[in-house]
Amino acid sequence: MSLSRVVVESTKPKLPKKLKPARKQVKPGDVEKKETVQTGKEYNIWYNKWAGGDREDSYSNKVKSQTRCSIKRDVGLTRANKTGIKYCCLFFARGCCPYGWECEYLHMLPDESWALPDSSKDCFARDKFSDYRDDMGGVGSFTRQNRTLYIGRIKETGPGPETEEIVIRHFKEWGEMEKIRVLQYRSVAFVTYKSELSAQFAKEAMACQSLDNDEILNVRWATEDPNPTSKVEEKERLEEIGRAAIQERMDPKIVDAMRAVRALEDEELLEDEDQLDTEDVQPTEESGDERGAKRRRLEAPDESQKPSGLLSADTIEGLKYFAEIRQRQQGAASIVKRAPAPPQRSNGLALDYGSDDDDD
Ligand SMILES: [Zn+2]
Repeated sequence: MSLSRVVVESTKPKLPKKLKPARKQVKPGDVEKKETVQTGKEYNIWYNKWAGGDREDSYSNKVKSQTRCSIKRDVGLTRANKTGIKYCCLFFARGCCPYGWECEYLHMLPDESWALPDSSKDCFARDKFSDYRDDMGGVGSFTRQNRTLYIGRIKETGPGPETEEIVIRHFKEWGEMEKIRVLQYRSVAFVTYKSELSAQFAKEAMACQSLDNDEILNVRWATEDPNPTSKVEEKERLEEIGRAAIQERMDPKIVDAMRAVRALEDEELLEDEDQLDTEDVQPTEESGDERGAKRRRLEAPDESQKPSGLLSADTIEGLKYFAEIRQRQQGAASIVKRAPAPPQRSNGLALDYGSDDDDD
C-alpha cells in the first residue's frame, strides 16, 4: 500500500529573525575519530582525516552520522555573507562545521531565488555529473532537474499517516516541501521539495540520520517518482517554465498580438460551430465528425496532436508565429531599402518610353 499527498500545511522552515554570527557546530576533536577510507577530496586538518567525499560507500552508509545540523541553532552569518559567495557549507549541512562565523561558505539554507553562478554545480559548489551514479547517490546530474529524494531504511512503527507525519516533521527543516509519498510496509518514502536546491541540502543533512526510531536512513536521488500523475505534473511544470522563459524574451507587443490572433481564431471557430448548429439540414456523417473535431479543438487540444517534447503545442505555435512576424518585419525593411535603388529607376524609365511610344 502506498500513500501520497501534497503537503498543504506550510512547511517553510522557520528561520531566526535576525542573523547572528554563525555558531561553531563542533570543536575540533568533538567528533570521534574513525578509520575511514580516503575517498575524500580534501584533507581536513581539524579531523585529521579525509573529508568532503563520499558517505555513500557500503561502510559509511551504515554508520550513523555523529552530528546533525539544527537550523534554529546553527544558521548564522559567516564570511560568505560579506564576500558574496552563494554556496552553502557542506559541513554545516552535516552539522559539523568547526569554523562557524569564520567559514568561507554560507551557514544558511539555500534559497531558490538565488541564481547559482554555475548551474553545473550543486548548492555546495560541487560539480554535478552528466549522469547519476548507478546507486543514485552522490551529487547528481546536471541533465535533469531533480527535486525528489528517495528515503530508505525507515523504521515504521505505526500506520502510514503516522510515518508520513514523522517524515514531514524531519524533512521540512531543510526547505519548503511539495509532496510526500510513503510506501507503507516497505520502509521507503519519497519527498519532493519545491526547489532543487532544498533537495540537495536535505540529502546531505539527512544522510545517515535517524527519524524517531533510531534508524540509519539511506537517502538517495529518486530515479523517478513512481506516481504517474506526478509525471504529468512535472511535465506541465517544465512546460510552464519554458513558456514563461520564451515570453520573457518576446516583445510584449508580439505576445499581445499573438493573443489577439488566437482569440480571433477561437471566435471564428465558435461562429462556424453556431452555423452548423443552426443549419436545418441534417448534418451528414462527415460534417458531424468535423463538428466534433472542432469542438474537441476548442475544448482541449487533441492529445495526439501534442508534441511529446518539452514544449507544448501552444508554445510551439507561439514560436512559429513569432518567427513569421520576424520574417515579415525583415521583408518589409528590405523592400523599403530596395525601393530607391538605381536599377529600378532605369526600369521605370524604360516603361515610360514604352508608354510614350503607345501615345504616338
Ligand atoms: Zn562552514
